Amino acid sequence: MKEFNIIEHFFKAKSIQRKDVVIGIGDDGAVSHIPKGQALVTTTDTLISGVHFLPDTSPHAIAQKAVAVNLSDLAAMGAEPAWISLSLSLPEVDEKWLEDFSNGLQEHAEYYSVQLIGGDTVKGPLVITITAQGFVPFEQALTRSNAKPGDSVYVTGTLGDAGLGLDIAQKKCIVTDQLNQDFLLSRLNYPTPRLLVGTSLRRIANACIDISDGLVSDIKHILNASKCGATIHVDKLPLSQALKDSVSSSQAIDYALRAGDDYELLFTVSEEQKGHLETTLASANVHATYIGQLNGFVGKLELRQADKPYEYSAKGYQHF
Ligand code: ADP
Ligand code: MG
Repeated sequence: MKEFNIIEHFFKAKSIQRKDVVIGIGDDGAVSHIPKGQALVTTTDTLISGVHFLPDTSPHAIAQKAVAVNLSDLAAMGAEPAWISLSLSLPEVDEKWLEDFSNGLQEHAEYYSVQLIGGDTVKGPLVITITAQGFVPFEQALTRSNAKPGDSVYVTGTLGDAGLGLDIAQKKCIVTDQLNQDFLLSRLNYPTPRLLVGTSLRRIANACIDISDGLVSDIKHILNASKCGATIHVDKLPLSQALKDSVSSSQAIDYALRAGDDYELLFTVSEEQKGHLETTLASANVHATYIGQLNGFVGKLELRQADKPYEYSAKGYQHF
């Protein structure tokens, strides 16, 4: 199959059609409309075989993760997703692989109503780069830099699951309960972008970030960008039953603090907005857990357990 046929068969034929796209796949560039009063938010994430996913990961999961991690960045900005582009580097044309990959991509595109509007297809090592674009009303984007001392810190979902999932996938850890194992692996391979939380937090949260590299690592981006410090209570970290069933309580806390790939949102809310937050989350039927408080000790992260300092030295995932 030639490059043109791959694009036509696997990507153009399967792509959904949004009303705001004038020209999608097939021309030198895509043309689309941004709604009035909205700003465009753009984000890119690359997934490299052997770095961001294990080489034996299913193409379906790789595609869905590539979409999800990008939509997670849009969620962290409070944006609503609209379009994605895909740059695909493939070692060979494997039609079965492309079929599974493009099906995974299409399912997510349909589910989240995002249109694949273009991309590039080249021969090389297996690398998937997706650029996602979405909208946020003017002046309502959630950033890392607007947190204030006194804000409460919250996270969505549960933390540490994908980290243990990775250790299971790499056979560094054995989880005997099949349901727990399946859950933890699905948290690694099929992350959920918290889009509804992100858009619900507009005008409520002061700052927001998605946890891709681990809680400790990612909260520091907010602390540095906002010139704040934080106290986090490790006993308040939301842990799944599967994680608690599978490892000791101190290991579970360690996964929750250190491990990446959960793609939950961490956000901060002022005292005045807390009531508003509770009603908004309840009406959207989503949950977030209070884990600590911001203060004025710039860049300093203090972890506490039962009102004693919690000793912790490990770092989140770093590429270099
Ligand atoms: P050009 O040579 O002008 O860069 P290409 O031949 O690379 O064009 O791409 C032709 C069309 O197919 C373009 O609209 C491009 O955006 C789209 N395209 C290429 N690869 C992909 C892909 N992997 N997924 C989606 N669209 C793609
Ligand atoms: Mg090209």
